Amino acid sequence: MSYETLIKEYNTHFPDDKKSQALIKQAFDFAHSAHRNHKRASGDDYMTHLFETALKLTSWKMDAETIAAGLLHDCIEDTNTSPKELEKHFGEHVSFLVDGVTKLGNLKYSGPQEHSAHNLRRMMLAISKDLRVVFIKLSDRLHNMRTLSHIPAKKRNRIALETMEVYAPLAMRLGMQSLAGDLQDLAFPYLHPNEYKWLKENVKESYETRERYLKEVEPIVLKELKKAGIVPISVNYRAKRLYSLYKKLQRYDMNIEQIYDLVALRIIVDTVPECYGVLGSLHQLWPPLPGCIKDYIALPKPNGYQSLHTTVFSLNDRPAEFQIRTTQMHEHAENGAAAHWFYENKKATKNVAQRSANASTKELSWVNQIKSWQQQFPGSKEFVEALKVDLFSDRIFILTPRGRVLDLPAGSTPVDFAYKVHTDIGHSCTGVKVNDKMVSLDTSLQSGDVVEILTQKSKKPSGSWLRLAKTSHAKKKIRSRIRRDSTVPKKTEYRIVGEKHIDLFKNISSIFSRNHIPVSEIEMLSSEGSYSILKVVAEVKDTAKADNITLKLKNSKGVREVNYKIIQPDIFLTF
Ligand code: MN
Repeated sequence: MSYETLIKEYNTHFPDDKKSQALIKQAFDFAHSAHRNHKRASGDDYMTHLFETALKLTSWKMDAETIAAGLLHDCIEDTNTSPKELEKHFGEHVSFLVDGVTKLGNLKYSGPQEHSAHNLRRMMLAISKDLRVVFIKLSDRLHNMRTLSHIPAKKRNRIALETMEVYAPLAMRLGMQSLAGDLQDLAFPYLHPNEYKWLKENVKESYETRERYLKEVEPIVLKELKKAGIVPISVNYRAKRLYSLYKKLQRYDMNIEQIYDLVALRIIVDTVPECYGVLGSLHQLWPPLPGCIKDYIALPKPNGYQSLHTTVFSLNDRPAEFQIRTTQMHEHAENGAAAHWFYENKKATKNVAQRSANASTKELSWVNQIKSWQQQFPGSKEFVEALKVDLFSDRIFILTPRGRVLDLPAGSTPVDFAYKVHTDIGHSCTGVKVNDKMVSLDTSLQSGDVVEILTQKSKKPSGSWLRLAKTSHAKKKIRSRIRRDSTVPKKTEYRIVGEKHIDLFKNISSIFSRNHIPVSEIEMLSSEGSYSILKVVAEVKDTAKADNITLKLKNSKGVREVNYKIIQPDIFLTF
């Protein structure tokens, strides 16, 4: 556990660079001293956690800023270090990354109700703003999962569940298959201990048998490839992950014999044409299983995964699965967005003819990631769409002080939030704190904001809130509350039945004008037979006045019947 290890690993991916090395060393020393009195639940020095987090990031070929932030990621949360202080020592980018990781730490998965896993994943991406924040958080989670046995059982299960429901799918979404598999396999024994035990006991032999079989198959394949002039870069055995095997077994009545890809032979070649060449050779050797040829090169999976898969009736007519891909596809398959990030970073720095570990946050922004990704997979609309749905959606994600996540339409204000939390919170809202600062009720909320509504029992919503609220939910609640409270009617609707007469309309309206009552609506509702029915909405504000006008109307020539009802002000209904 030393910074030299990190720098050595870093240098295998990036050219020797004193500035980057100095940054990593400085972060290492800073973290070491900031956490000097901390222990992990395992009894280890806290530094082991920070080191492992950073080391994993290094293996994903992250830049020096990310590795430094990985070392410092618990500084704000667990020591007295402020973001300002980090910025002073390490610059705004490192401080931004650590701050982002700290923010993600506030999110808590509250269980399978209310679709919160999905929301939480979306929110994490939305508030991270920079993919590197997510990478650090994932690396942090991986090490926490590796050391989970030291945590008390109740907390342990919550963390395992959160890992399975939120973090593993997030890694998968980012195309980081290897990480997703690790996280699932680490959470599996805590969430399904009996199934895990059963699988462990029953699968070992099957794995070994399958691998032995593929070892016999391999030389035959290599010989055939040689005939076609193809020399693979590498051939290896890919054993199916335990949790993914468990999921598949559930669909096959727990019959391991039915799982052909328990162990697959993976062939890595140099170019795409060679990939198809290998596929052709295999099919010349052995007949493929119908429906088992998958061309993820022409049609990548939504997370960007590319590869050719085929299952053939191989030696002794037994099915064997093959996966064929290029080196770059392989790296993408294993590390997904992280691998992509690395290539983009290299490209970007080549362009400016100067390698810089301080590539600007803007340059590496999430949006640019997506754009360049789009260029890289121009045929895959599906992929880009999948990302768009999550990232450019018109929803924002807001936290309660207790970490509950609520999603609202973009542009929502604290008023919308308050009514979303609870109608009574909305009604009694007197003010709001966003991220611990008092702000006005018309503030437009941003994803990741922690919003605390201040309330007072006697408080009632005001009509002006209708202008502040963006959601129809809040508007509806405000209107109905105001309506309930209004004791002074502002308008009265009259129904007047009169004999059909050329002056009826004129006579009635003149009664209102003589009494200086503004009329907002006068309408002939029907005029059949010898009677007409008129509707008049006028600003008669109390029942005494309304009765008085009724009397006058009744005395008017030809009027037979007058009814009225007091109605609520229109203004609130049509806002
Ligand atoms: Mn941590």
